[in-house]
Amino acid sequence: MTTSNELSASNPLPVETARALIRRAIAPVTTIERVALRTALGRVLAEDVESPIDVPAHDNAAMDGYAFDGSTLSVASAVQVKPGPLTLAVAGEARAGHPFDRVCPAGECVRIMTGAPMPAGCDTVVPQEFVARSGESIAFDVDRIERGANCRRAGEDLARGQAALAAGRILRAADLGLLASLGVAEVGVRRRLRVAFFSTGDELRSVGEPLESGCVYDSNRYTLYAMLMRMGVEAIDLGVVRDEPEALETALRAAADSADVVLTSGGVSVGDADFTARMTQTFGDVAFWQLAMRPGRPLAFGRLWPGERGGNAHSALFFGLPGNPVAVMVTFYQLVREALNAMSGADTAPPLRFAAESSAPIRKRPGRTEFLRGVATRDAAGKWRVTPTRSQGSGVLSSMSEANCFIVLAHEQGDIAAGAPVEIMPFDGLI
Ligand code: AMP
Ligand code: MG
Repeated sequence: MTTSNELSASNPLPVETARALIRRAIAPVTTIERVALRTALGRVLAEDVESPIDVPAHDNAAMDGYAFDGSTLSVASAVQVKPGPLTLAVAGEARAGHPFDRVCPAGECVRIMTGAPMPAGCDTVVPQEFVARSGESIAFDVDRIERGANCRRAGEDLARGQAALAAGRILRAADLGLLASLGVAEVGVRRRLRVAFFSTGDELRSVGEPLESGCVYDSNRYTLYAMLMRMGVEAIDLGVVRDEPEALETALRAAADSADVVLTSGGVSVGDADFTARMTQTFGDVAFWQLAMRPGRPLAFGRLWPGERGGNAHSALFFGLPGNPVAVMVTFYQLVREALNAMSGADTAPPLRFAAESSAPIRKRPGRTEFLRGVATRDAAGKWRVTPTRSQGSGVLSSMSEANCFIVLAHEQGDIAAGAPVEIMPFDGLI
């Protein structure tokens, strides 16, 4: 692991390098639980699921109308000089759940409702709007319909034995529906990741406490709690820890003991009260990074062994996030999210990014990746525009609240002129 000695403040680590180092340190949780379908929402599928049946199980009608043998159409066209109406006798009825249980006789049709199985001998449905019915027969223009129309084929959605969902998928609404359509009542999922977190700082007060002079309310524990809940992990809130070496060591050991991942905020820069760094050295393998990113410059990352070290002994992945509230959220979105997904065994695509026109000029120094908070909107012509939020300070949490995307300014990028394209990364729904 890269140590702080190798990385001086003048040689900060590019974000992509940090991502790669984090990825290398990750081993996904292996325990698998079998859970009922509803409980599987948001969980990581642990096994590939193949369809045990054809979906749909039978050929069935896609519209309300009349089912018939579509070969009659070409016969009718051939014998008539100018194709005209085809007349068919109605042999009976098929409704969803109530099939027509005979073969449809030649030259006849079956009244059919959407979803009803196609009667034997039929492959085409003429919609009822195209049909003139008189008594027990119908007539319609053969030009208006093609053989096979309005018939959903068995196995059209998924054929028996076909891969339906791959292991690693985070199960969403469509997936639960899909699994239900296969008749799957329970699935194997990875156990939920346990993430312990706490805030550090003598100045922090918890909500509900009076705010003495020089103090701030602890907001990081709430943003972290919310982000962890949205990620579907088991969040273990260990409160606020004072800037005292012993208190920090106790909290870090307890956190590492109870969790797969430990997140802290604050105390990772080079101030006199920044003890997180020093304490983790005694029972961890932790690197202190100056990241070439803004916000989010100081970050600690590594592994903690609360008890015996090495071998099969329990250890926890450790992220010492910066203290500034915006930096906490940015580092979470940019580095922690991906790590937690990977540790959960999830196989996730990179977040969406696309180009938008910047409505304002942006000052940018090459040599670090910047994540500005932006508000992206789509104009009437369909073009995406983005406006940086008023304040970009790393302590100004209202900028995160106001924004719906990051404006990602790449490592080498310089100043941006108003009207120039920039890359945006929407974060609504990302976590
Ligand atoms: P630190 O990295 O500990 O020096 O903290 C940097 C800045 O973030 C300071 O202004 C802290 O007061 C602030 N800060 C640290 N932790 C929190 C927290 N949990 N909630 C709100 N602000 C915080
Ligand atoms: Mg602090």
